[in-house]
Parts: sequence; structure tokens; C-alpha cells
Amino acid sequence: MIRVAVAGAAGRMGATVCGAVAGAEGMELAGRADPALGVELVDLLRGVDVVVDFTVPDTALGNVQACLEAGVHAVVGTTGFDLDAARRAAAKSASANCFVAPNFAIGAVLLMMVAQTIAPHMPECEVIELHHDRKLDAPSGTAKRTQELIDAAGGNVHQPIHSVRLPGIVAHQEVIFGGEGQTLSLRHDSIDRSSFMPGVLLAVRRVAELPDRFTVGLEKLL
Ligand code: NAP
Repeated sequence: MIRVAVAGAAGRMGATVCGAVAGAEGMELAGRADPALGVELVDLLRGVDVVVDFTVPDTALGNVQACLEAGVHAVVGTTGFDLDAARRAAAKSASANCFVAPNFAIGAVLLMMVAQTIAPHMPECEVIELHHDRKLDAPSGTAKRTQELIDAAGGNVHQPIHSVRLPGIVAHQEVIFGGEGQTLSLRHDSIDRSSFMPGVLLAVRRVAELPDRFTVGLEKLL
């Protein structure tokens, strides 16, 4: 049984994760931390195997550090925080691993993989990401990761990202490649937060056995 605590448990993603963990075979929802619940993450870490963090950019790094110092594995979905600082914290960790995914939806991960295949042949492209108007960071973590992967595959041309923030939207991303006399578009739509749950549960199951202390990207688990 994997004992899982959720940080940001009263938030949009965190609440969905709590439901998914509670219903998953071989997992136990061991705690819920959130200012709205009056529960701090540090008070939950004893006896917990994995923490799933879907909080806010200002909080995620401190939560990762607290988990690693307590020997608790961290699965992080929060975007817009300092990944290099998290990597440095993980390098000092004696036994716990940190796994970060800018996007836990399999379709979004596949879009990034396909974009990498296209980039060497059609290196000119632009990324358009669309999210709900309460998202704190822009551009999205997914868009930055997509740009990074396309840059690496397509000869390091830094491609622009456009961010749209509107009510009524969950999480969407389009990559438009342009070539002579043709365009090629890739689009992924998360129309419900349940789209992220299989990826989150996969990461919870696998984080303890990862070969490195710090791993970024759901594609590493596929
Ligand atoms: P949200 O609804 O604002 O939820 C964040 C929650 O975390 C809020 O309840 C917040 O409380 C709480 N929180 C703040 N500090 C905390 C702390 N120290 N300990 C515990 N909880 C704390 O945001 P969301 O829409 O769920 O998104 C959360 C994050 O996930 C964002 O960074 C978003 O970009 C990211 N995201 C990632 C994926 C992915 O696949 N990786 C998918 C969707 C979203 P207060 O409101 O009181 O601050």
C-alpha cells in the first residue's frame, strides 16, 4: 500500500487527485494539506511514502525541499516554479526522489513527442497555449517544455509562445508548423481535469524506483 498525501488538496487539481488516489488500488489517501483546510504539509510527512503537489508556484519548491529532507518522494504537477533549484535539492537527497511533469495528460505528452519528430523537417513553428483565467503562470509549463523539446530537435531556433487566458477553458495547446506552401497543426485539449489522473497515479506508483533523484517529463515513465 502506497501512503499518499496531497498538497493543494482543496484546489482544482488537488481535489481531483484526492479522489483519484482514494479510488486507486494499492494506494491510501494519507493526508490533505491546504491553507483552506488548515493543514500544513510538514505535519503530514511522517509515515507518508509519496506527496503529490498541485499548489502554487511560490509554494512548490519549499514543499519539494520539505519532502526530500523527510525522505518522502515528491510527485509535482505545479508549474511556474524554479526547476533548477528543485534539481539541486534533489541532488542532496539521501533516499527520496522528485518527479516533475509539466503535463500529466498522455495526449499532451504525445503531442510533445510528435512535435520533436516534426521539428527537424519543419523547424519554423509557433506554440499557442490556452488556459482558464485563474491560472497564475504564463506561459504554461507545458508550452515551455514543448518549446524546449522543439528547440533541441529543430536546431535551437527559439520559437514563440502565445498565451490565452479566458474563463470557460481548461487546458489546451496547439503547435503550428509552417513550411513552404504548407502548414501542419497539432492540437491537444484537456476538457476535464480527469485527463491528468492516469499520469499522476502512474507517477505515484513509479517515483520510488526511478534511477535518478530528479526526473522531468511523463514521457520518461511511458
Ligand atoms: P488552485 O485551484 O489554485 O489550487 C492550488 C491550491 O494549493 C490552492 O488551494 C492553494 O491554496 C493551495 N496551496 C497554496 N499554498 C499551499 C501550501 N503551502 N500547502 C498546501 N496547499 C497550498 O490551482 P490548480 O488549478 O489546482 O493548479 C495547481 C497547479 O497545478 C498550477 O501550478 C497549475 O499550473 C498546475 N497544473 C498542472 C497540471 C499538470 O498536468 N502538471 C495540470 C493542471 C494544472 P490558496 O488558494 O489558499 O493559495
